Amino acid sequence: MAAEVGATLPAGWALASDTQDAQASASDDHAASVAETYHDDLERTAGVLLAAWLAQHDGDHSGAAAALAAGLGTWAAARAVWKVPQVAGYETIDAYNDGGEDAAGDLTDGTLSPDDGTVLAPDAFYVTVLPEGAAEIFCQMYAGQEFSIDDAEEIYNAFPAHISCDHYGCIVAR
Ligand SMILES: [Zn+2]
Repeated sequence: MAAEVGATLPAGWALASDTQDAQASASDDHAASVAETYHDDLERTAGVLLAAWLAQHDGDHSGAAAALAAGLGTWAAARAVWKVPQVAGYETIDAYNDGGEDAAGDLTDGTLSPDDGTVLAPDAFYVTVLPEGAAEIFCQMYAGQEFSIDDAEEIYNAFPAHISCDHYGCIVAR
C-alpha cells in the first residue's frame, strides 16, 4: 500500500491567482448547475407524486397539497443522503486535481522542496490511482498502478472517470 506524501507549505505560499480565478469561476458555474438540477428534479418529482395522488383519489384535489408536501419532504431527505456526498466530491475534485498537477509540475521543475532545502528528485515519486481496486475496466487499468510524474496531468484529469467513480490520482513516494 502506497503512502501519501505530506508536506508543509513554505511561508508566504499562495495559490497562483489564475488558479484562484479559475476555481472561483468554476464554483459559480457549479452552484448554478446544482440549483438547476435540484429545481428540475423537484419539479419532476412533484409532478409524479401529484399525478399518483390524483389517480388514487379520483382527481379530487382536496388534500393533495398536504400529501405533496409530505411526499416531497420524504423525497428531499432521501435525495440528500446520496446527493450531498456526490456534490461535495464533484465540487472538490477540480481543486484537488489542480493541486496535484501543480505539485507534479513543481516536482519536475525542482521547485517543490521540504523546509530543509533538499531538492526532491521527480523519480523519487510516482503517480498512482487510489483506491487500488476497481470494478470498471477503465479504472482497472489505472487503479494501484505506477505512472511517471510526467503523466500526472493526464492521470489527474482522467479521474473520477465516470458517475459514482471513487478513484483519484495521487502522488506517492517510492
Ligand atoms: Zn473508478
